[in-house]
Amino acid sequence: MTVIDLDLHQNTEKASTPPALQLDGVRHSYGRTVAVDGVSVSVAPGEVVCLLGPSGCGKTTMLRIAAGLEALQDGEIRLAGTMVAGPGVDVPPERRGVGLVFQDYALFPHLDVLDNVAFGLTGWTAADRRSRAESVLALVGMNDYAAAFPHELSGGQQQRVALARALAPRPRVMLLDEPYSGLDARLRDRVRDEVLHILKASGSACLMVTHDSEEAMFMADRIAVMRAGRIVQEGTPVELYCEPVDAFVASFFGEVNRIEGVVHAGAVDTPIGNIPARGLPDGAPATVVVRPEAVTIQSWSSVFSDDPSGLVEQARLLGRTSLIHMTVTAPARPDRSVHLHARVPGVHLPKPGVRVRIQVDHAQTFVFAGG
Ligand code: ATP
Repeated sequence: MTVIDLDLHQNTEKASTPPALQLDGVRHSYGRTVAVDGVSVSVAPGEVVCLLGPSGCGKTTMLRIAAGLEALQDGEIRLAGTMVAGPGVDVPPERRGVGLVFQDYALFPHLDVLDNVAFGLTGWTAADRRSRAESVLALVGMNDYAAAFPHELSGGQQQRVALARALAPRPRVMLLDEPYSGLDARLRDRVRDEVLHILKASGSACLMVTHDSEEAMFMADRIAVMRAGRIVQEGTPVELYCEPVDAFVASFFGEVNRIEGVVHAGAVDTPIGNIPARGLPDGAPATVVVRPEAVTIQSWSSVFSDDPSGLVEQARLLGRTSLIHMTVTAPARPDRSVHLHARVPGVHLPKPGVRVRIQVDHAQTFVFAGG
């Protein structure tokens, strides 16, 4: 992993200070392919911002442009308020103090861990370089490996060394590109937890790229969801999860149930009940998006025969939750049914063929225009 370090010490963290990193109106094409189509995003000092989106939406291109590894075609880039790329300005990557955190670590194979970490500390005395490299290795829990070479380390260890190398010059901005994708699930959880704590303790601003929504929610103060070269929605993880602007954003934060319908008298009539469709005109086609965790199930009884009921098809334990597949039928309308997933906490595994009562939390149910 190569690391982008932007060693900009001049800004303080007062409210009036400019963003540590600011990309304004960035457009970028590769031949006829428009990779980034007018994106603006900024990262405040000490803030972690994630660019989240599916493969090919332009995330990595944004990072490479921020780093100066890709020549800016249109827009402006500022670091701590100073333009580094824009009309008539193009500060080369090495003068931005920039390096990318790639998934493949890219440690120098011929240098031991200590020298890898000390490598970027140019202009320091030998004693200061050693002492800084040792203390930052201790920060990532790798001080016992100072004399080891990269090929003697596991993927996660290499990742931590790369992180130490990035942090050593006390960067104001870090750019991370899918930094955990080479790690298995358990190691990834541990390393990203460490990285988050280290970033927050160091006060570095961080722009990180990922296609994994859970990772973005874990790491980010703010998330910008990208699609086809544009930002579709930007906000805190809570805003994006609880108030998605469209079905694409809603579905990016975990599997969802979709029910197509038509708005009638301010609501969409579905097998799971009438779902309010605020702001949509009568007759408009609409998509109802229901998070599986919005669906609760209870034992069915004829007392509740006015409520929607579901016929269990499958139930699977996924660990902390159980996923129940059902066919849900509208009350008194056996001709109207929908396949629905419910995600319930703990071990809850009703048998196939059992009828259950369905309730839906409208706070986790969204209605969007269009079928
Ligand atoms: P992934 O998550 O798969 O890395 P991404 O969101 O980071 O994807 P980019 O790598 O920025 O997306 O690519 C955006 C678009 O630009 C894609 O259509 C990609 O094929 C194209 N692209 C990226 N790099 C180049 C290149 N060097 N030459 C030509 N096209 C490119």
